[in-house]
Amino acid sequence: MNDNPSLPTTAAAERKPLSEAAKRALGADVDGYVMPMFNSQTAIAYHTTMVKDPPSTYAELEKWVRENPKKFGYNGIKGGMSGVSFVVGWIYANTPDADRLIKGPYDPETKKAWDQALARLAAFNKNVVLTPGNAGTLDMLNRGEIAMGPVWVDMFYTWQADGKIPPTVKLKLIGPGMPGQPMYYVVPAKAANAKLGEEFIARFHEPYAVTHRHDLHAVLLNACRNNDLIYLDVSERVIDAVENEGLVEVALGGPDSGPRKTICGRALIGCDGVWSRVREKIVGDGAPRVSGHIAFRAVLPRAAVPDDLWEPDVVLWAGPRTHLVHYPLRRGTLYNLVAVFHSDRHIEGWNTEADPADLWAHFADQRPEVLRLLERIETWRMWALVDREPIKEWSKGHVTLLGDAAHPMLQYLAQGAAMATEDAVCLADKVAERPDNLPAALRAYQEARYLRTGRVQIMARVYGEFYHARGVTAELRNQMLRSRSFQDWYDGIDWLYGGM
Ligand SMILES: Cc1cc2nc3c(=O)[nH]c(=O)nc-3n(C[C@H](O)[C@H](O)[C@H](O)COP(=O)(O)OP(=O)(O)OC[C@H]3O[C@@H](n4cnc5c(N)ncnc54)[C@H](O)[C@@H]3O)c2cc1C
Repeated sequence: MNDNPSLPTTAAAERKPLSEAAKRALGADVDGYVMPMFNSQTAIAYHTTMVKDPPSTYAELEKWVRENPKKFGYNGIKGGMSGVSFVVGWIYANTPDADRLIKGPYDPETKKAWDQALARLAAFNKNVVLTPGNAGTLDMLNRGEIAMGPVWVDMFYTWQADGKIPPTVKLKLIGPGMPGQPMYYVVPAKAANAKLGEEFIARFHEPYAVTHRHDLHAVLLNACRNNDLIYLDVSERVIDAVENEGLVEVALGGPDSGPRKTICGRALIGCDGVWSRVREKIVGDGAPRVSGHIAFRAVLPRAAVPDDLWEPDVVLWAGPRTHLVHYPLRRGTLYNLVAVFHSDRHIEGWNTEADPADLWAHFADQRPEVLRLLERIETWRMWALVDREPIKEWSKGHVTLLGDAAHPMLQYLAQGAAMATEDAVCLADKVAERPDNLPAALRAYQEARYLRTGRVQIMARVYGEFYHARGVTAELRNQMLRSRSFQDWYDGIDWLYGGM
């Protein structure tokens, strides 16, 4: 649907060109063969229980290793790229031309200074443990056999999210830094819909990907746990907030108790979801709108899904006033199902156990594939779906809102968490631009976000109607979809995936 073309869209040609670094992988020209995904970085992982004051520079690290022999491990320059990165960082730190080396272009003259730096590295290596590869460094850290070592940050966070690295291991970037490298997407030649994937990535520079909610949370949670500036406490709820002479006083307490304690800060970001208490204080527009749509969700193990119903893609079965979406998660070990139907029976509910009879009453006449999948599920969780009209103002003084608290939306474009994440990036940028004037920074953030999030709120409703159409409307929808090419589809959705 090319909805309202007068709102800004980002044409592919206007998008940021790929960097030169992204076109080269490990020194080889890969332009045209792969799609850059992100730039990864190496950092020093260390056990907080074994290293109280981690080094900040290579010189401090060298001293620490002398004083703590065989407690630092890395994989040399043959055992994996984190070792190469560590050694390149060593050269930066121990030669006079670091800046030229970092910024390029490479000048062979700089090499003259390397012999001395490498001789020093050889002496350093006498007191280190050589680990068996990138994963080997993480393994040895995990077992406590070494206290410190360079690791890829993306690999570190994945391992931590999988519970393979204890939360007491943290990361530190040491000066003058270690180089990273771009990571790439590759669409396998035998992928079922390779062309669709290639065209999506070529146009939007990202793949369309799905992830388990828990996995995404784990990445964010681990990043918080690894940041000494963040203190996490989930034992108390915000029950009130008042601003007083530029400071925000927040009253905390249990769900049914009065305030138990008060904390005070320079700003308050209310990211407390669709039933936000902070929104009550600064917007005060009552309860969210009950849509009359109910979502039932369940996750099946791969073995529970019949082979002929297993699809590697995101699939949506649209029926009259119902739809079912399913897709694999965690490299195909799980199958996620979301069944949605219209019902006025439920006013409120978030992640509560559901009554399957309710679902069957609405899906009884659906296609056999849908019914066979629904039959497999024993336990469903239920959400009564709510949203709000878009608003323009959700910041007041030193208090603002983020995510569903600011712009709750129906899930038909699968964007609520995506919009909350974009909010967070935008808010961080605006605060970095105006750290001494937080009210202005919070207003700038709201200004940058309200049209985009408002558009998603409105369009999510439209898509819901589109999926749930009946009778002639459903026939028209099917006719319209049948005549559309991938390109038409991407043109219509460019406003959403094409940029902030
Ligand atoms: C069926 C369904 C499918 C969805 N699918 C997708 C999808 O595919 N993609 C997507 O991007 N989004 C999806 N969403 C939307 C997504 O779940 C939400 O938009 C997202 O969770 C919003 O994040 P949030 O952090 O703003 O709020 P929440 O995730 O609601 O988090 C708010 C947090 O604040 C806490 N809290 C509440 N009140 C207080 C208080 N007074 N004091 C302290 N803490 C408080 C809550 O306990 C909660 O932890 C879906 C939603 C539903 C219902």
